[in-house]
Amino acid sequence: MSQQGYVAAPPYSQAQPGMGGYGPPGATQPLYGHYGGPPQGYNAAPTGVMKPAAVGPPAAPYSPNVQQNGGTPPHRHLAPTAAYGQPPQSSYNSMAAPPSLSTQQITSQMSAMSMGSYAPGTQAPPLQRPPPVMGQPPMHQGPQSPPMSPQMTAPPMSPQMTAPPMSPQMTAPPMGAPPMGAPLMGAPLMGAPPMGAPPMGAPPMGAPPMGAPPMGAPPMGAPPMGAPPMGAPPMGAPPMGAPPMGAPPMGAPPMNAPPMGGPSMGGMGGNFPGSPPPGVGCFQSAGPGPQGFPQQPGQFGGPMGGAMGGAMGGAMGGAMGGAMGGAPPGMTGGFPSGPSQLAGPPQKKLDPDSIPSPTQVIEDDQLRQGGQIYNTSVRGQVPPLVTTQFTVQDQGNASPRFMRCTTYSLPCTADQAKQCQVPLATIITPLARLPNSETPLHVVNHGETGPIRCNRCKAYMCPFMQFTEGGRRFQCGFCNCVNEVPAFYFQHLDHVGRRVDFYERPELCLGSYEFVATLDYCKNNKPPNPPAFIFMIDVSYNNVKYGLVKMICDELKTLLEKLPKEEGSESSVVKVGFVTYNKVLHFYNVKSALAQPQMMVVSDTADMFVPLLDGFLVNYQDSKAVIYNLLDQIPDMFANSNESETVFAPVIQAGVEALKAAECSGKLFVFQSAMPTAEAPGKLKNRDDKKLVNTDKEKTLFQPQKGVYEQLAKDCVASGCSVDLFLFPSQYADLSTMGSVPFHTGGSVYKYNNFQVETDGEHFLRDLRKDVQKPVGFDAVMRVRTSTGFRATDFFGAVHMNNTTDVEMAVVDCDKAVTVEFKHDDTLSEDTGAMIQCALLYTTLGGQRRLRVHNLGLNCSAELSNLFKSCETDSLINFFAKSAYRAILKQPIKNVREILVNQTAHMLACYRKNCASASAASQLILPDTMKVFPVYMNSLMKSAPLAASAELPTDERAHQRLSVMAMGVEETQLLLYPRLVPLHNMDAGSDVLPAPVRCSEDRLSDSGLFLLENGHSMFLWLGQGSSPDLIQSLFNLPSLAHLQPNTSDLPELDNPLSKKVRVIVQDLLEKRPSSMKLHIVRQKDKPEVVFRQFLVEDKGLHGGASYMDFLCFVHREIRQLLS
Ligand SMILES: [Zn+2]
Repeated sequence: MSQQGYVAAPPYSQAQPGMGGYGPPGATQPLYGHYGGPPQGYNAAPTGVMKPAAVGPPAAPYSPNVQQNGGTPPHRHLAPTAAYGQPPQSSYNSMAAPPSLSTQQITSQMSAMSMGSYAPGTQAPPLQRPPPVMGQPPMHQGPQSPPMSPQMTAPPMSPQMTAPPMSPQMTAPPMGAPPMGAPLMGAPLMGAPPMGAPPMGAPPMGAPPMGAPPMGAPPMGAPPMGAPPMGAPPMGAPPMGAPPMGAPPMGAPPMNAPPMGGPSMGGMGGNFPGSPPPGVGCFQSAGPGPQGFPQQPGQFGGPMGGAMGGAMGGAMGGAMGGAMGGAPPGMTGGFPSGPSQLAGPPQKKLDPDSIPSPTQVIEDDQLRQGGQIYNTSVRGQVPPLVTTQFTVQDQGNASPRFMRCTTYSLPCTADQAKQCQVPLATIITPLARLPNSETPLHVVNHGETGPIRCNRCKAYMCPFMQFTEGGRRFQCGFCNCVNEVPAFYFQHLDHVGRRVDFYERPELCLGSYEFVATLDYCKNNKPPNPPAFIFMIDVSYNNVKYGLVKMICDELKTLLEKLPKEEGSESSVVKVGFVTYNKVLHFYNVKSALAQPQMMVVSDTADMFVPLLDGFLVNYQDSKAVIYNLLDQIPDMFANSNESETVFAPVIQAGVEALKAAECSGKLFVFQSAMPTAEAPGKLKNRDDKKLVNTDKEKTLFQPQKGVYEQLAKDCVASGCSVDLFLFPSQYADLSTMGSVPFHTGGSVYKYNNFQVETDGEHFLRDLRKDVQKPVGFDAVMRVRTSTGFRATDFFGAVHMNNTTDVEMAVVDCDKAVTVEFKHDDTLSEDTGAMIQCALLYTTLGGQRRLRVHNLGLNCSAELSNLFKSCETDSLINFFAKSAYRAILKQPIKNVREILVNQTAHMLACYRKNCASASAASQLILPDTMKVFPVYMNSLMKSAPLAASAELPTDERAHQRLSVMAMGVEETQLLLYPRLVPLHNMDAGSDVLPAPVRCSEDRLSDSGLFLLENGHSMFLWLGQGSSPDLIQSLFNLPSLAHLQPNTSDLPELDNPLSKKVRVIVQDLLEKRPSSMKLHIVRQKDKPEVVFRQFLVEDKGLHGGASYMDFLCFVHREIRQLLS
């Protein structure tokens, strides 16, 4: 049963009804957390070969530099003890707030709650496009026939000729319009050299080498080539773009704010006046009904006493329980927001400093471990926080940059795992970047024999293998099988039983390393070809009109010079290819021998093929001149295109076919303007329906449409083809579907709503540059092996799985992480611990097949206190985010939120019951390692995908859902708890970044200047009382009033403050995996509301409790569980 998901069967069954999330006993239990996993069985431990694993060499005579890890039981707890020297928790006794205080607090909370709520209907619908102006073709209405521009009226272009009005050489005969309907078959060429060049004659290919299917019927409805009406429509009128208003804490939200007086983020005490009358719903579907979050916290009113925070976690003590005892059992929402039950005289608000502070935890860990060397020799050692700057020395376990765990001490039994409900998981970022201060992975080459593996479980040679019989055999640390050592690999053992070549072989002494893979590991037993990048540019009306096509082409000229290359090699071997498309596809021959690129058009999108092989994928350096020429021509060729419809699936299909034909893997960079509405496979319809929000059918908004895209994703993965989608929508684009292929192929989705070159151009280009230059591996398969007693049961990430064990990734880049959940099969041994080996087979940028191996040893303990001592909140929250975001595909979001709350309470109740010292029931006692867990959990529940608010654009929610699924621990940590940095008091001469403050309105000051960022959005917030000096220094303006709304630029001014702020911003932009657009907001301006939703300790803009309220609620749940 424990294996049925931690969530479903809390051990405190008597308290069950109070949890609200489970419904009546015996009812169908929510499956969240484990569905899709293989059936849980308690497999008997393999017998036969099994031995009581000879744990480790005797004594511990390893040199301090390199220790073998599996065999040092005596040291097992060294690190944890050191790291957590202080008692794991301490009780802060209540400051004994008198009962009257709680009622007072409630009232003040309530008044804070009702401030500035969004009244339904007071805001523009998300993503609403400004009305078309001046003949702008309305989106998705098929091609219009605007007046032909004189120069275009000329030759009746065939549909497939949408091409090059502007390039004379392209109008030549071969491309010369085949009559409508005539198959292009056999001569799809349209290229021809320009004047003076050899005649266009027969292009170098008589027939498409791919065995092109006949190009069936002519494409329908080819629009005339008329130039678009002059005066291109003002796109997304306001410079900041129209609305996905109130976008979630992730996608850079446009700043178009809803009309509202005061933001509702007041939380525990807003300093914003102008509260609307109480009673205004904060949610679209306000009210205490089962679907909404009734937005009145405050019934759990006890003040939290005591000096919370500090270096240790602790107990929130005191009177807290009093008022909370009798809370209604039937909480419907996952949020602490039931109907207010108490009323009383006003009270002063709680001291927010009394609850555990994430920034303090981060700062303390940085102080304690920052700048130090973390060596990985000790099994089960908890690494520094992901936010701490430290240097890793690999001494037998994988660096935390590659693998982080929810806990480094697994419970010995499945029963214990069930009891504590702490998910057991590791987050693997197999290709994580290493800082320059750390050694790149060693590459081991065993020649034709390939890596040494266990005969039985196929684990790779690693520090967990024990050599015996004088070195002639080794016992597998995973399955215990005893294997012969191949003759070539034989080596004598020293007096402690260690091979004498121990330090010379990375696979014996290091946690992470690579093997050169033999042909056995290659497709068709052939060495892989170098990978290819194909740039596929949507040249339909919108992309052209707004200057995007030109921008992309210009950028590629410089970007292609910086194609990623194998470490140590001089130039990149990555091949490049180019496609443009709208309703038809144009392929380009850019063979170096050509003077001019040649274009071939494929108009039969139903049966996609690639019309040319030779010359399509080329080496950039060889073909530079032709490629330049092409990039110069593309914007002009389509400058007058009026085609507003576009295809999408056939574009990806074309990319896959091209890679297949070239027998290589690669990435497609697709620059798409909108949802594909042209008649073609994968055509999409607007299926956005806000009425589904908060219903059982809400999940359908996140489910991709099946059929074409599902098959496409499979094709892509099978061919090692990933898709990076750059989307420039001006309205709903069904991101759930459009993003599904990128998602399953390890690609990324970037979205720029109402894109404008002037304001979003740099932001987009930064993303593009980062994406193109990222270290990546192609055609990857990952396998996670474990020692006996537990195993990997579930995988979360941008991956594809055909079976239960092989994690397939068409491409995996340095930022992509896979979260792996483990379950017990059997009892784990404290002596041997629990070993994990992650092996990633992939093709490098240089076209080499490699095996990257990461090994990690964890402790096992029969004491749950060890588990809690070894927990990592940041990893836990990564797991919960991914599992919840996947669960919403199948379950009502309300259930998922309830489960999150329940599991939080269960975990903490278990700690309280089993691990904490005796203390008053009214105290909230948290494990030191999880003392800020509730703030992250609360932030997660307020995140766009889980905040079931019809005010949030569906695409924003879908986008965040997909993005998070692929994130590593560092990214989810930052996303769910943004950095808020005060800049007004910093020493402009110092290199030190000011310490971040807590994400709450309380921390802002009227005269302050704050930078907020979460890895996806960035804000510079200016208090109303900002000094003129400060404004002058930053913007060269006399006062804040002179600052234009929607500014997103910091002028380059020659003064220390300006320089320093720009350096800080620039550093962050470089450091984060994706770009962020800087939003400059003034206190109390409308756009400020968007900024405020990132203040995650406050009440949510779209629902959700403040941190304080959530903590009170969780505490009440815990008390119920324990009672
Ligand atoms: Zn084995």
